Amino acid sequence: MAGRYAVGVDFGGTKILAAVVNLETGRLVGTGKKKTRQVHEQEDVIKRIASVVDESLAEAGMTARDIEGIGIGAAGQVNREKGVLVFAANIGVSDLPLAQPLAQMFQLPCALGNDVEIATLGEVQFGAGRRCDSLVCVFVGTGIGSCIVHDGTIYRGASGSAGEIGHVVIDPFGRQCGCGAFGCLEAYASRTAIAKHIVAELKRGADSMIRDRIDMTKGILRSKAISDAIEAGDDLVKSAVSQAAQFLGLGLASVINFYNPQRIILGGGMIEASEYYFHHAVKHARQRALRVPARKIEFVKAELGDYAGVIGAALLVKGK
Ligand SMILES: [Zn+2]
Repeated sequence: MAGRYAVGVDFGGTKILAAVVNLETGRLVGTGKKKTRQVHEQEDVIKRIASVVDESLAEAGMTARDIEGIGIGAAGQVNREKGVLVFAANIGVSDLPLAQPLAQMFQLPCALGNDVEIATLGEVQFGAGRRCDSLVCVFVGTGIGSCIVHDGTIYRGASGSAGEIGHVVIDPFGRQCGCGAFGCLEAYASRTAIAKHIVAELKRGADSMIRDRIDMTKGILRSKAISDAIEAGDDLVKSAVSQAAQFLGLGLASVINFYNPQRIILGGGMIEASEYYFHHAVKHARQRALRVPARKIEFVKAELGDYAGVIGAALLVKGK
């Protein structure tokens, strides 16, 4: 097959997605998918990723010799130089070398990045970030991930953690966040925060159609259930989501004031599922930010959905 290809792997808490990606067009020519299993043997994780890579190559009618390399994006903290997944709470692993064993297995260059970074790379190259030099991507789902793109490249900061808007403190005496600190934006504007708010209100006796679709003990709620409830005019869900969107708007206003990007791309399960959430967050961000940048900033939704990750992961190979 003509063109340059690489395999991108999106290694998340619930699934491993892989795709053979045309590096010039972003087109996918073969995909593979498996559930992420909580495993104790590190070798099993690598074998499982390798099998998803094989699956995508087989679907594309290719072998490892037809591609330039493998890029992996993992939902956690990574050491890019060493290709090691340092810590991933949702996957249940730590200090897991990924790039080197896979490079050996396939005899190909292999690069590692994190999930937010790969989704951003995908959007910048082939999605909502085209023709824009300064932008910030913000993904809202179970948590809030964010990435800064400056002069067309990802800005990582001195030790690689730049852009953690989810852990900007918006209330010094506020709720505890998953990171251990108190009052982080993520604890107020993520889907997890919305679910917690709804569970607390239901326990207090509030009435809502969402009662049947929420796991009351774990506080798990799908974005689709939220958007269905909003469409049906459910007051409890509407107020929980509009409150969360106000908080996200506050965080975005800080991004605008501090960095003054040309564009903010919003993505992730909550944004994809709920126009209501997107609309309210954007409205509050514009109201709260300084007047000139607030007027000029472009708010757009991410375009690549579930595939941003695999496309962006494949692009990591270009840097090798
Ligand atoms: Zn935090």
